[in-house]
Amino acid sequence: MYRWNMNNINNMYLYYHKRMIEEKNPVLKRKYQEVIDSLFEIIDFYEINLNKKRKAVIIDDCEDFSYRDVINDDFRTLHDYGIYAPIIRDFNEQFKSVFIKQPSELSKIKISENNIVTLSTLFYQQLNEPFRDTYAHLAEHFKSRLAFRLLPKDLECAGNAHIVRHTKVVYIDVGIENTFQDYISLVHEASHAITELLNPDIIWDFNKYCFTEVDSLFFEIVGGDFIGDKTNNKKDDLIVKQRIFYDYLECASIICAKMDLYSCLSKKELRNNKLIKQYYKEEFGLKKQKIEEISLTYIHEIWHYIISYLTAIELYYIYLNDKDEALSLLYKIILLKGLKTQEYLDKIKELGIEPGKNITNYYNLIFKNMGERNGKKL
Ligand SMILES: [Zn+2]
Repeated sequence: MYRWNMNNINNMYLYYHKRMIEEKNPVLKRKYQEVIDSLFEIIDFYEINLNKKRKAVIIDDCEDFSYRDVINDDFRTLHDYGIYAPIIRDFNEQFKSVFIKQPSELSKIKISENNIVTLSTLFYQQLNEPFRDTYAHLAEHFKSRLAFRLLPKDLECAGNAHIVRHTKVVYIDVGIENTFQDYISLVHEASHAITELLNPDIIWDFNKYCFTEVDSLFFEIVGGDFIGDKTNNKKDDLIVKQRIFYDYLECASIICAKMDLYSCLSKKELRNNKLIKQYYKEEFGLKKQKIEEISLTYIHEIWHYIISYLTAIELYYIYLNDKDEALSLLYKIILLKGLKTQEYLDKIKELGIEPGKNITNYYNLIFKNMGERNGKKL
């Protein structure tokens, strides 16, 4: 049984709280406060999602406020990360006229928590250093820092790595849907935890935001290959890969539609919900429900997944030819810190990685099974 040890978390909370109160140095005092804040979030998450003693407070914003809030937030994202927009545009352009069938449902399979942990461990064990050792360190604490929870029906593949800031402590929760996805979800979240241990507090470097999912999405793809082979379930591995491609392409099309909207309408016109709805209807022929969905989607919630995904796929292609090289490049990417937003992209390119370069090959590989893996035809 895997569950979080709440006594440990509460004791840590009390310890840092005491230190914060006693500390005179303002820099250290702030640091302790940040540890406390992250612990508080973890306790909160536990109570709402894992313990269910408290219900989540759902703030029912009026439609008008939400729309405007999303637009303002989108403008901030475009201002901060707009230099990455051409990568998203290219991805959308390449596939916008390709009909991609919605991937089939994953078959329900019975897998135990132990089974999920075992396969994730087998996967990370066959990787090079520092990934193997860092995972081993993490797994030592799984009994008290990992939790599984059953996902509601409408939610797929959710999980989190909860980092206690300025410490080497990471709590993980993994959503379970009783499909092949469950293996992948732990591989994904464990990857975030590994990255945090290798480059502490990197998650708070907002200039690196576009690349925060590179490691986790790369290990998802490679881990899927590995676990698909081990469990003799290549079919479901392929569906998981198709699902993610399909979802991120959908996200890219939403971002592009929004960017078009924001460049076509003036700030004043954007305050008029009717006009926005009319624009989506006329320009893209969208239906009411879809317009609603797009209007309430914050692009900052999906933007980084696309850039990271396209980068991860490039690493995957390197991995297929040279495993060591791909892992050493990934390690270099993980260690990058303290750069400006544009400099992160420059560094990635300096490493010889062009996000999106192999996306058509990858599409052919997973949708048409035309590719090769490890010299074998798929
Ligand atoms: Zn993630």
